[in-house]
Amino acid sequence: MKPFFIYNTLSRSVEKFLPQHPPEVSLYSCGPTVYLPQHLGNLRAYLCWDFLRRALEYNGYTVRHVINVTDVGHMTSDQDAGEDKIEKTAREQHKSPLEVADFYLKLFQDDLAAIHVEPPLVWCRATEHIDAMIELIERIIAAGMAYVTPSGVYFDVEKYRGENRAGRLSRQSLDEQNAAQRLEHSADKKSPHDFALWVLAQPHHLMQWDSPWGRGYPGWHIECSAMSMKYLGETIDIHTGGMDHIPIHHENEIAQSESATHHPFVRYFVHNAFLTGKEGAKISKSAGKFPLLSDVIAMGIDPLAFRIFCMGAKYRSELALSDDGLRAAQSNLDYFREFARSIPAGAVSNSSDAEFSCEYRERFLDALNNDLNTPQALAVALELVAEAYRRGDYNIWNTLGAFDRVLGLGLAETQTAAANSAIPVEIQALIDARTAARKSRDFKRADQLRADLEARGYEVKDNRDGTTVYQLRHA
Ligand SMILES: [Zn+2]
Repeated sequence: MKPFFIYNTLSRSVEKFLPQHPPEVSLYSCGPTVYLPQHLGNLRAYLCWDFLRRALEYNGYTVRHVINVTDVGHMTSDQDAGEDKIEKTAREQHKSPLEVADFYLKLFQDDLAAIHVEPPLVWCRATEHIDAMIELIERIIAAGMAYVTPSGVYFDVEKYRGENRAGRLSRQSLDEQNAAQRLEHSADKKSPHDFALWVLAQPHHLMQWDSPWGRGYPGWHIECSAMSMKYLGETIDIHTGGMDHIPIHHENEIAQSESATHHPFVRYFVHNAFLTGKEGAKISKSAGKFPLLSDVIAMGIDPLAFRIFCMGAKYRSELALSDDGLRAAQSNLDYFREFARSIPAGAVSNSSDAEFSCEYRERFLDALNNDLNTPQALAVALELVAEAYRRGDYNIWNTLGAFDRVLGLGLAETQTAAANSAIPVEIQALIDARTAARKSRDFKRADQLRADLEARGYEVKDNRDGTTVYQLRHA
């Protein structure tokens, strides 16, 4: 077995991956705060972790993946200041916090399904794990690392950090972190760096629970520590998140977790870089307008082309969103699908592939295991198909099928659907073009293509539920 290598933010180096209990791997990803639709930058993060999970599975590991859902306690500032994000939206939309969270979680899960992100073993919601959070806070207090005040229970950051000790992940001193963040100093905090584990005395906050310290609600950071420990144990193999989580959220998760357990919280911290806008600006919620998956679909681009687009950059490189980039990804998707549709039945049922495919298998695995080099893995898969065409030898279906366990394009379904429908390739191409035209609301072109299909003897029926049936008109 070839070793898998991944960049660990803890050591700032690419390390050989060794899980605690092979073949099992525990993987925790910081999940969404469900108060808005998740934009393409957020979706990129989950695609990165889907590639990671699938690459580990390709290497024979069994991955236990947990994603949390923050439905309480995430304030409009990453420190404790501002308003609860969920409650802010609830007030604006005249809904309950639960309705807001349910609505945006469903939207997010639908988007993930459209881009073929495998669902995690557990989606854990903060509001359903309050007991685990209270228990963990009690352990932190018992360890002498947190203190109770009238406004909340705070983690004693200076006591944990000691004299100017730099953060384990960010490698920043507290003063450097302070300069980067505008900290609001509650009079009860011993230091502005201290963060709330449990917030008290906020009578206007809609979501409140009883605790040993009074009615209140948890801070954002404690959610991840408590839920990851509940499902994955006190030491996790891999913890993922965006690079913006490094200086505060993940530093705080480490500090509070290790204060309670006295052993390492995470073995490998893996962080993804951002998707940037067309002008190089980070697509973020605070930047105002941010593209959604529905904007991509409105361009006539398949959601899976967005998946390929993201595969085209390494997870820790910034990726600039562009129309050209999305269109290039769409043509790569079409190229794979065209191959899957046109492959001869004999090549599909063949149990052994052409000998030339061996080299591609090696190169594909090398790319994945070299710090999850997805652009290279994608290139190898495209080259394999090109080589099959060049040689006129289509016996690569087992190899391509294995690659697709990581690519996640559903090529087996494409092949099966094409075989079952018996629609000729050139007709299917017209159908695809019409679907794309309809998605981009180019109804004039869609009508032309309908006429073309009808002239070739195909009946086109658009159903009210948005689906379309194409069938050969029988004489
Ligand atoms: Zn988290």
